[in-house]
Amino acid sequence: MASSTSRIPGFYQLTPTDRLAQVAEISGLNEAAVNHLQNMGNLSPSIADSLIENVIGTFNVPLGIATNMVIDSRETLIPMATEESSVVAAVCNAARQCRDSGGFTTFMSGSLMIAQIQLLGVKNPEFARLQILSRQEDIRTVCNEADPVLVSKGGGYRDVEVRVLTGRSGPMVVIHLIIDTRDAMGANAVNSMAEAVAPLAAEWAHGYANLRILSNLADRRLARAQATWSLDMLGGESVRDNILAAYELANIDGYRAATHNKGIMNGVSAVVLATGNDTRAVEAGAHAYACRSGAYRSLTHWEVDAEGSLTGVLEMPLSVGLLGGATRSHPTARLCLDIMQADTAERLARIIAAVGLAQNFSALKALATTGIQQGHMTLHAKNIAMMAGAKGEEIDMVAEEMVSTGKVRLDVAEQVLSRLHNTE
Ligand code: NAD
Repeated sequence: MASSTSRIPGFYQLTPTDRLAQVAEISGLNEAAVNHLQNMGNLSPSIADSLIENVIGTFNVPLGIATNMVIDSRETLIPMATEESSVVAAVCNAARQCRDSGGFTTFMSGSLMIAQIQLLGVKNPEFARLQILSRQEDIRTVCNEADPVLVSKGGGYRDVEVRVLTGRSGPMVVIHLIIDTRDAMGANAVNSMAEAVAPLAAEWAHGYANLRILSNLADRRLARAQATWSLDMLGGESVRDNILAAYELANIDGYRAATHNKGIMNGVSAVVLATGNDTRAVEAGAHAYACRSGAYRSLTHWEVDAEGSLTGVLEMPLSVGLLGGATRSHPTARLCLDIMQADTAERLARIIAAVGLAQNFSALKALATTGIQQGHMTLHAKNIAMMAGAKGEEIDMVAEEMVSTGKVRLDVAEQVLSRLHNTE
């Protein structure tokens, strides 16, 4: 470490190169480290610098393609951006095993987002609630005037709801603006509308406005995917029944549900990221939806159909867009949309739901049969080999030896590597 300070006046005004030089000096980075960070790959410094603040570089994650997917009768190649091994393979395997049963069928409840306005200091909250509801047409006008482009694309104001909630400091009035955001995720669109309506609503309610922001619990933008796996593909009734038992645990136990849903999000977040959409918005929505009953539960549901096959359903909020945020400005995100031929936000959400269901099927099947580690081992072993310092061909050699002996550990990788080096 050279001189250590995190106080760098004017840092945000510098170019990425100059910021990196400052960071290198403060953190004592050598020339090789600076060269590494300076290589911004296929995201130009100017685009990166326009997406977030204080940019010094970019962070690459692998982009893989999920094959075998048939979604609503359309063959679909799906780009997935993830650092976790086995995620892409899991989707490919699940999709291959349900192709003969027709692949994935999907549905979408709509593209409605909710913006919340919190009103405080309201003396007669129930009276205020009716006052606000009676101004429905004024609210429509103000919302639509805030985003004429959205309205021209068929979106805009749809409805208003008013709730009276009680916090520690007393009652508050919470308005929900229901907005159709079409092909946009819609956060900026609905936030602007909430800010435009808030002063008027405060006046009508004789209170004052505090929060004005969207809710990520996008439960009016639900994507649903369904698929069936035959007994032949599953390998028999006992596998099917063990999968059902695994699902049942996720439906009665938060400890299991968290990991079950994490697996679903392995697939979901990888496609959300690959398309430049907001992973945190989708994740927050998913987890909030998973505990809408008051207890945290599985986002998927599994049953046996009339033929004895296993059928699965995923239902979750999916607020993703084709424009807004990084979706249009990130060149790789645009290409990912081209690869999967997602020409509407609805199609993208349907694809993502199918990926989430596929991921869940693979995880459940692995857990109900060989266990999760077997499928993970080969790629995990390569990661361990690289951690031990293996390079090029050595990575596969070290990994293969560890997998064959069943000992995938850093100390074993180091031993194998040092033996290879000594015999070279
Ligand atoms: P945006 O405002 O950049 O773009 C959407 C706009 O594009 C619309 O308002 C509309 O005017 C226009 N448009 C053109 N053609 C359209 C069409 N066919 N359909 C819909 N709109 C069309 O983006 P956004 O989607 O409002 O906001 C998304 C961004 O907001 C993301 O980057 C997200 O990370 C960020 N964000 C998220 C949160 C949150 O999730 N809590 C909060 C704030 C910001």
